[in-house]
Amino acid sequence: MKTNLKKQLRLPDEARARQHLLALLNIPGLSGEEMLVADHLEKVLLAAGCQPAWLRRLPARPPLPAKFGMGNLVVQLPGTFAGPSRMFLAHMDTVPLCRGAQPVIKNDRVVARGHTALGGDNRAGVAALLTVAETILKNKLPHPPLTFLFTVGEEVGLYGAKSVKAADVGKPAMAFNFDSGRPDEIITGAIGAQRWRAELHGISSHAGMHPERGASALLIASRALAEVADRGWFGKVRQGKRSGTSNAGVIHGGDATNQVTHHVVVHGESRSHHPAFIKQISAAYRTAFERAAKQVRNCEGEHGRVEFHCDNDYQPFHIPERAPVVRFTRQIADRLGLETRCVAINGGLDANPLNAAGIPTVTLGVGAHHPHAYDEYVDLIQFATGCRLTLELATTK
Ligand SMILES: [Zn+2]
Repeated sequence: MKTNLKKQLRLPDEARARQHLLALLNIPGLSGEEMLVADHLEKVLLAAGCQPAWLRRLPARPPLPAKFGMGNLVVQLPGTFAGPSRMFLAHMDTVPLCRGAQPVIKNDRVVARGHTALGGDNRAGVAALLTVAETILKNKLPHPPLTFLFTVGEEVGLYGAKSVKAADVGKPAMAFNFDSGRPDEIITGAIGAQRWRAELHGISSHAGMHPERGASALLIASRALAEVADRGWFGKVRQGKRSGTSNAGVIHGGDATNQVTHHVVVHGESRSHHPAFIKQISAAYRTAFERAAKQVRNCEGEHGRVEFHCDNDYQPFHIPERAPVVRFTRQIADRLGLETRCVAINGGLDANPLNAAGIPTVTLGVGAHHPHAYDEYVDLIQFATGCRLTLELATTK
């Protein structure tokens, strides 16, 4: 693909786009601490001619965690021609592995100088949006009503996107999320997930003197997880035509080796592209914990109990290829000579809650690769193509 992309038209102010990318990669901003990134965006946009009234920094309200410094940054440019509003978004936060990242350019890539991740996820997306908004403002390019949405807390639970109400962002008819690698891949589907928590209450007793009086919460957990695995619900799950994944990832419990364990908490997750199957996977865990709790008994025949809590983390989505947002993206990409294909992924995106909120949202790449890893990099050729694509999507009549 690289040679193919090299032939693409480049953004007129490619040097400026790189400058934005490097500046943004240099700004710290882990989840909940996005304020410096927002400060930078506001400064550049105001200097480019953005009216202060077009910028809104939303407060950190629920569902954002209490420790968050701010909510989303919303920039709304009134249209110079009439038409349904379009939204462009990227998340401002980076993962802890990016702490202290220093970007350097090597060949056609930006990489981290030291032993950190880079933060191209998702400062590459933020830089593309900033470049395009600045280009439109400075050159007074005609455009329909546009919303640029810079979200917070994506990496820790899609919090910013979950807090979006369509009315707050100009009720966009379609949205484009920039948070991926290849500009020729249109992400039109993503998996959904539930997070669950099993609180297991056993019966405590001295483990040396009267173990028979106890019912171990740890034994309940072990039996339940063994049963889940034996029945095919652990890890990669396939039942008939449906598939998904599950994991029990965290366990806490127990106070002492001489005490029959009375309390254990197990945290896990269930994922699938089929909403009903996500629930079925979680239900398999619930049933196994409940069954195991009844089986583990003390000498009096008493048994422990389970409290099982399940939260929808995010809904899966699938946008059909005939949907206007996909057709429009393809039409613009065609014009740039990009051969696009639609893909579905097994991770959550800001696009999940937006699609659930009724805003048809595709996700596109701007050259960010190997996220959350030390060898993370931004491909500058793909980044330039992503900027060009974004500018066309924002300004084409
Ligand atoms: Zn990301």
